[in-house]
Amino acid sequence: MMDAAQRRRGIEPREISQESSDSLRITWADERVCNYEAARLRRACPCAQCVNEWTGERTLRPEAISNEVVIDDVSVVGRYALNFRWSDGHETGIYSFQYLRDLCELE
Ligand SMILES: [Zn+2]
Repeated sequence: MMDAAQRRRGIEPREISQESSDSLRITWADERVCNYEAARLRRACPCAQCVNEWTGERTLRPEAISNEVVIDDVSVVGRYALNFRWSDGHETGIYSFQYLRDLCELE
């Protein structure tokens, strides 16, 4: 993850703002603005509990996550990722800036 982020240094947030408990907005260094819905972000959690580390297969079932899930807290990890604390108690996901940007582009 960190390697990917380092390879593409252009992928850096200029501003991270929590519009409400169920949405997050990131303004990137290149002016692109991305809005993220909390439940969608939660379902995309890249941690080892949600994704099989060896196969890359997502083990977290989307329906296991309530649409009502909200972001209790968000913090920057190092200079390359965000960590969320969700209202369902989950907090192990490290979302690299690259991954967040990719999620936005796939929308
Ligand atoms: Zn997870």
